[in-house]
Amino acid sequence: MTNLGPIPPDFVSRDGELCIGGKTASHVVAEAGRTPLFAYDMAVVERRLRELRAVMPQRLAIHYALKANPFAPLLRHMRGLVDGFDVASGGELAAALNAGMDAACISFAGPGKDDAELAAAIEAGVTINLESHNEARRAIAIAGKLAIRPRLAVRVNPAFDLRGSGMKMGGGARQFGVDAPLVPALVQEIIGSGAEWRGYHVYAGSQSLDAAAIVDAQSATLDMVAGLAEATKAPVPHCNLGGGFGIPYFSGDASLNIATIGAALRRQLSQLNNALRDTSFAIELGRWLVGEAGVYLTRVIDVKSSHGETFVITDGGLHHQLAASGNFGTVVKRNYPLAIANKFGAATASDPQHIVGRLCTPLDRLAHKAMLPLVAVGDLVAVFCAGAYGATASPENFLGHGPAVELLV
Ligand SMILES: *Cc1c(COP(=O)(O)O)cnc(C)c1O
Repeated sequence: MTNLGPIPPDFVSRDGELCIGGKTASHVVAEAGRTPLFAYDMAVVERRLRELRAVMPQRLAIHYALKANPFAPLLRHMRGLVDGFDVASGGELAAALNAGMDAACISFAGPGKDDAELAAAIEAGVTINLESHNEARRAIAIAGKLAIRPRLAVRVNPAFDLRGSGMKMGGGARQFGVDAPLVPALVQEIIGSGAEWRGYHVYAGSQSLDAAAIVDAQSATLDMVAGLAEATKAPVPHCNLGGGFGIPYFSGDASLNIATIGAALRRQLSQLNNALRDTSFAIELGRWLVGEAGVYLTRVIDVKSSHGETFVITDGGLHHQLAASGNFGTVVKRNYPLAIANKFGAATASDPQHIVGRLCTPLDRLAHKAMLPLVAVGDLVAVFCAGAYGATASPENFLGHGPAVELLV
């Protein structure tokens, strides 16, 4: 028997049925027209942002990283909620601009930007977080041909990583950013080219639930950037401190203590090195803002027994929710928070049930030996924490069942 992860507290029951944004799950399915679907409750996003702004220093801008969920209606809504967008491809750049975000509030990171992406970013006037010397030289050359002054920052590969993070993206040998000791020479080259120098971007890891680890990473980032400012004798107009804020997915996970992070950041920003006195600061969050707002709803097609174990087969699967199947950046497969939406809060059956998708691969499991109410054909399964890295990070063409519907509620 395996525990299920924590259901975000925003989701309540009405007459025994799961409610999403004040609508029952069956109402949401009727609105979408079919299952499987992803429903994103924007009130949850707004609540998270209010909580975050209440504890963070006012001076800190909050950016949304599109990678977590680039659904166009969600982006249009996010544009009014956050201070900027961070994109990581030409496609995301176009999506950010289409959503109406001001180019001055967009930054573009990611290794391997091609010439067309660099040109699009320069023409739009977004800040490019350069990931290598070669990329810097290409950007400067392209800007020269376009006769546009590019807005350039450097992504630094710091000597530290984000302790306890699900995915490490700094410290040691990485494909991300420029190794810290090589940064001062690159900054001189960028400034020497006549480009508009924008400052630094540091991103040390993702999905951390350890506030102390995030505080340490932010503090190390501020020290490092102050050191770079002194080494280069160049001002630092902007500094993106990264993110890494995680959400609880699994049994035993506790929510990240953002009050601890906010208090430490207030202290750190009030005691800044002189070189950073006029710097603007941002953090960039993806899953923390949108992950818990999403619910994936899938209908039960079949229930069968094999060697005494019960398999509940749904019309969804890993082609929409790769992460919930345990095949996206997890070493040990654990169950995501999951419930039977039309039996929300009902008594648990005496035996565990496996919840699986409809793909012809044993990898397609949504929950292993889950303790749930007794499931019947026609029931609706809800997989929570589906707002980030769900639809966008799943192989929707695999097996040809096609994409899930996505909608805001
Ligand atoms: C992936 C990524 C993010 C978003 O990560 P979350 O875990 O969704 O918050 C932000 N910035 C960069 C540079 C990234 O690569």
